Amino acid sequence: MKTNILKYALVFGLLSIFTSCENQQIDTQDQNQEVLKYDETSLSDAYFGRKSSSGCHFEYEGSSGPEFWADLCGDDWKDCGGNSQSPINIITDAVLEDESINNINTNYTISSTNIFNNGHTIQFNYDAGSSASLNNIDYNLLQFHFHTGSEHTVDGVRYPMEMHLVHQDPITKLLAVVGVFFKEGNRNLLLNQFMNNLPEYEDDHYTSSQKYHIKDILPGDMDFYTYSGSLTTPACSEIVTWYIIKETIEASHEQLERFEHIMHKNFRPIQTLSGRIVSTND
Ligand SMILES: [Zn+2]
Repeated sequence: MKTNILKYALVFGLLSIFTSCENQQIDTQDQNQEVLKYDETSLSDAYFGRKSSSGCHFEYEGSSGPEFWADLCGDDWKDCGGNSQSPINIITDAVLEDESINNINTNYTISSTNIFNNGHTIQFNYDAGSSASLNNIDYNLLQFHFHTGSEHTVDGVRYPMEMHLVHQDPITKLLAVVGVFFKEGNRNLLLNQFMNNLPEYEDDHYTSSQKYHIKDILPGDMDFYTYSGSLTTPACSEIVTWYIIKETIEASHEQLERFEHIMHKNFRPIQTLSGRIVSTND
């Protein structure tokens, strides 16, 4: 009788271990899908209706660095060698003032906290339900992420950090990315809520029901430079209308250092304009 009880206990114990392992696996899978959902590679794949090319790998230096991106993934990343690439240097004297371009009209709401480290950037996935009207097209805000230093430069000046708010047209799947520059200054109050929870290593994530509002980090004046370009990570797809906000926002030296410590230098070098025009609404 005693051995039977022991046997049952053993079987039950093994079953519990097995079940809990299985649960954990399902969780990880869900999280990976959650991470990939709004990853730039996935958004590019969604536009072209192709399967994920996530088997390919890129870096910001060395033999997988930006100058080699176009050749790292067969034909999938060949756009990285294209003529309408991002980022660019904005020459303010050459910017075209175009009064027919509408101001940014945001319809953002709060989101719970979903932060991922995808090995290239720290990405905050935003809950569904926030949108922005950009030059008369309604886009959904999907995620925002960071680059140290800034990817775009203005008259040759590189800022310490740039935030990219990635929006997608739900019909055409074309993207609109709003770029905001950080300069060193006062502690940023919105970022401050997350400084202790930034996922430090690749595939780390942090999720919480804590709500925040993206509007709390945006500058008061949303006048912008705009041009047609690409994603700044492979596959470098030329499906992006860029809106680079003129007014900068601030973060403290410690905050900027923390982002750089985690992401390292993750800006792509400046790409040639090749005849493209940069316009402004102002
Ligand atoms: Zn970006």
